[in-house]
Formats: sequence, C-alpha cells, structure tokens
Amino acid sequence: MEFLRKLNTFLAGQRRLMAGSIFFGLVFAASGLIPPLLIRQILVWAAEGRDEVAAIAGIVVGLVVAYLMRGVARYLYGLFSHIVAFRAQQSILVAVYKHVQTLPHRFFADQRVGGLVSRAVADVEAIEDFIAHGIPETTLALTIPVAMMGAMAIINWQLALITLAPIPLIFIVTRFLFPRIRGRWRRVRERLADITAVVTEGISGFEVVKAFNREREQLAVVEARGEAYRREITRTQIFSMAPIGIIELIAGIGLILVIAIGGTLTLRGSVPVADLFVFVFFVSQIYQPIIQLSAVTENIQKAIASTDRVFELLEVRSDINDRPGAKPPARPEWSVEFERVRFAYADEPVLREVSFVAEKGSLVALVGPTGAGKSTCAKLVPRFYDVQGGSVRIGGVDIRDVPLEWLRQQIAMVLQDVFLFEGTIWGNIQFGRPDASEDEILAAAKAANVDEFAERFPDGYQSRIGERGVRLSGGQKQRISIARAILKDAPILILDEATSSVDVETEGLIQEALSRLTHDRTTIVIAHRLSTVRRADRIVVLRDGRVAEDGSHDELIARDGWYADMVQRQELNRDWRLDRARPLAAPAAGGEGA
Ligand code: ADP
Repeated sequence: MEFLRKLNTFLAGQRRLMAGSIFFGLVFAASGLIPPLLIRQILVWAAEGRDEVAAIAGIVVGLVVAYLMRGVARYLYGLFSHIVAFRAQQSILVAVYKHVQTLPHRFFADQRVGGLVSRAVADVEAIEDFIAHGIPETTLALTIPVAMMGAMAIINWQLALITLAPIPLIFIVTRFLFPRIRGRWRRVRERLADITAVVTEGISGFEVVKAFNREREQLAVVEARGEAYRREITRTQIFSMAPIGIIELIAGIGLILVIAIGGTLTLRGSVPVADLFVFVFFVSQIYQPIIQLSAVTENIQKAIASTDRVFELLEVRSDINDRPGAKPPARPEWSVEFERVRFAYADEPVLREVSFVAEKGSLVALVGPTGAGKSTCAKLVPRFYDVQGGSVRIGGVDIRDVPLEWLRQQIAMVLQDVFLFEGTIWGNIQFGRPDASEDEILAAAKAANVDEFAERFPDGYQSRIGERGVRLSGGQKQRISIARAILKDAPILILDEATSSVDVETEGLIQEALSRLTHDRTTIVIAHRLSTVRRADRIVVLRDGRVAEDGSHDELIARDGWYADMVQRQELNRDWRLDRARPLAAPAAGGEGA
C-alpha cells in the first residue's frame, strides 16, 4: 500500500493512459473466455443430437472476432503500460537528479558516488520494469481468474466451488513467502549498489590504480563484491522461485479435482460433457496468470525495494536552505567578514574562533599548516557548510540572510582539483556563464592564457576533452578553470592555489592569469606560494582553528612569528611550500612535516 502510494506520485498525470492500459488488459482477459464457451455450444448441440452445421459459421465468426480482440487488446495494453513506464522513468530520474543537486556537501562527503548512480539509474529502471510489466500482469492475474470463476459458477456452482477449493492455498503461501522475499531483494539492491560504487571508483581512479600497481587488489575487491552479490541474489532466488513451483502444484491439484469429481459426475450423467470440457479448459488456464504473477513477483519485489531506496534519497533534506524572506541586499558591498566563526565536521572542532575581514577589492591570503582549516573557511563562504557559531558576512549582511542562489552568483571559485566536464574546451569555459557572448568567452580564454595552448590544438577551442580532461596537462586545466571564473565575473573570488608544481614558464602564465582574475575582486586565496602572499593585502595565519597572526607581509615579518619563520625557510629552499612549513625554532604543535 505504502509502495503504491509512493508509486502513485510518479504516475500523476498519466492516469488516463494507465486506465487505458488496464481497460485493454480487461478486454484481453474477457476475450479468453469466448472460445471455450463457443466450443461448449458445439458440444451441447452434439449431446442433443442437433444438426447445427450452419451455425458453425457463426461460431467461427465469433472466434475470429474474439482472437482479433485478443490480439489488439494485448498489443495496446502492453504498449500503453510501456509508455506510462517510460514517462515515469523519465520523471523519477529527473526528480532524483534534481533532488541530489539540492543536497548539501555533508551528504556527498558521506556517500559513495556509485551508490548514488545506482539509485538514479538501476533503481529507477527497476521501477520502470514494474510499471511496464508488473502492473499489467497483476491486473490480468486478478481479473482472468475472477472472470473464469464467474463463468464456471454460472455453469455449475457446486462443481466450481470444489475445483477452486485450492485457490486460498495460494494466498496462504504467498502471504507467508512474499514478505521474506521482499527483504531479501532490498539486500540484493544494496549489494548491487556496492558493486556499482567500487567499479565506478576503480574506473574513474584508473590512473592511481595503475600507478600503484593495485589492479590485482582492485580486482579482488570487485570479485568479492560480485561474489557477495551473487550469493545474496542466489539465496533470494531460492525463495523467489518457490511460489511458482508451489502454485504449479496447486494448479495440478485443481485439475485433478475437476477430473476426479467432474469426471465421476459426468459418467453418472449429472454433469454434461460440454460443462466438463469448459471446466477442464478453465481450470487448466485459471492458474496461468497467477503463475505468471509469481514470475513477476521478482519484478514487484525489486520495484518495492528500489522505490524504497529512491524515496529514502528523496527524503533526505538539505539543512542549507534559504531562510524565509531571504532577499538580496539592496546595495551589496563586497567585503567578506568572518566573525568569531566556529565550525566542526563532526565532534572535533575545526574552526574554534576565526575572525578576519577581506575588504572590498582586496586579496586576503589564508596560510597555515595542512589541516588548519583553510579550505574549510573557503567552503563556508558559498555556504557549502553553515557555521555553527559566529557568522560569515558579505558587506555586513549574514550570508544566511540572502538567497543561496544569489550568494553563489556572487562567488567564483577556482579549486585545486580542477574538474572538467566531458565536452570541449569552449564548453568548459562557457560553463562559467552560459549566456556569455562568443567575444566574452574568447576574452576570458585570452585573459587566462588558455589561447596559448588551445589555438595549437587542431580543433582549437572545440577540441574535445575526456571525462577528466585526460589529454590536458595540469597547468592547462588550471587555466581553463581560471577562464571559467573570469567569465563568471563574480565580485568575490575564492581561490585554492594549486600545490602541484608546474614548469616555470607555465607557472608564470598561471600567475599572470590569476592576477588578471583577482584584479578588483575581493579575493580569499588559500595560498601555497610565497609569490602569492607577497601580493596579498593581508595575510591570515590559521593554526589550531584560530587566527594566529593577521597583517601585511611586512607586519608579519616584523612580528617574527610562525609566518616569518616560514618565509625565511622558503627563501632558503625555493621548492619548499608555505603550508608544509615547520618553524625553524622548536617544532610547534600543528606544524606538519615536509
Ligand atoms: P586545510 O585546508 O588548512 O589543509 P581543511 O580545512 O581541509 O584544512 O581541514 C581542516 C580539518 O578538517 C582537517 O583536520 C580535516 O581532516 C578535516 N576535514 C576536512 N574536510 C572534512 C570533511 N568533509 N569531513 C570531516 N572532516 C574534514
């Protein structure tokens, strides 16, 4: 019931087609009754010794009509149910994807991508399968036996009662078995999601797998998961197949009863041969749809399990939403202020008390040892996570008081891990602002020094790049992501400087692109390079979830603290990076080894 209620939400707007499918299902069921009843008439005439050869023509016409009806009805009910199913599949897929887009970072951090993909694809397909096959088969399984029982009852109700006596057994059996089967199918779907997750990871992380020679181990994981799935589904099948066998047996009992009792009564002359024929015919047919139904129980149980899983996902609510009445500030100012910000991912606080201000148009560099909470600060600005104490404000307005969409429109991010989408270089830049003109895209590409390499490719900007842009170097990908941010032209910029080294020339091109990007924008940069902090208007040193030092380069050097130590160290060794610094003096807690 719960399942049907859930399913119903996906079938909204399709009731007429669904009703059409069920109507033709009923026509199909009814057409099955006509032939035996017409043949019975011949037997009746034969028993009465009447010569009705001319009437045979009428019976033949009746049969032709019956089979025509049957063919057309079968075609239409199957077609309609599939159309409904495909539409439902599309709407569930879209609903799931749309919902997943609203989910907060916290959700994705806890989930495996493959599991989500399996919900969006495999589970939705199981539901489609149920609507296309499960619903019509169930309709037939319920209506055909009822129609046949009705016909038998009219002909000879006592005999009908006896021959149908075993039917309640079916309900007892199914009531006992089905709940057990359902729970198992849910576990099967979970095992399948496990496989999807590990296969997705293994394939998208192929480089790491190969680089570390982990093929064998990775394969072993897939094998183990596959084996767990195989075992689970085999065990499930042991129960799942049982109803079919049992119903076949019960059907046999029904037929034996007709022949034993009906046969005796016919020989004694109290039941006409014609009626016995109809009974044998119906009883041998009446269990067919029920057997068929138990064949689709697998499909039904799968659909129930999948619907549960899909709904479970749809019921996850994002805790990062617009406040009621949130509206963009009338005259926005583009300073970014952290005030006594507290934050923890779990129990352990990451930011204990962080306060700093990035003035409008200025560049603030966040530095500090790895794990100090620099990226966390960056994630709080677009509200990937919400603060647990204090506030982050833009121009004095708490970011929780403005619409989320507006907020994110004002922020461009260039992350260390550049993600490029399947498609062209052009398309990946355009992602920054889909309505940008061709000239604007070209200008952004130039400003980010993308033209320097894109124009050398045979297809130029239209060159296709793989799922992760496999044919581009790290430096090239970074420049595409900078172009994307330049195109977005947002007043606030969050920059996670890449830690990976590129050659000096490329480094120069990237730095040049970045300085064009940060020009006149309020920028918070997670800095790893001395050249970046030197350009910063203000440097904020984070340590142990607090601001340890805050000021300009010169001020911090004069303070002779952690920052001064790092700079001194970096000047000694050009390759050495800020966040890997251990102070020259006694190694302080929180400092990470190089
Ligand atoms: P930084 O950018 O300074 O290296 P981060 O902000 O990435 O530091 O991380 C700060 C702390 O928060 C680290 O201890 C890290 O392990 C933890 N952390 C980061 N992201 C998550 C997450 N998604 N879930 C739980 N802990 C996290």
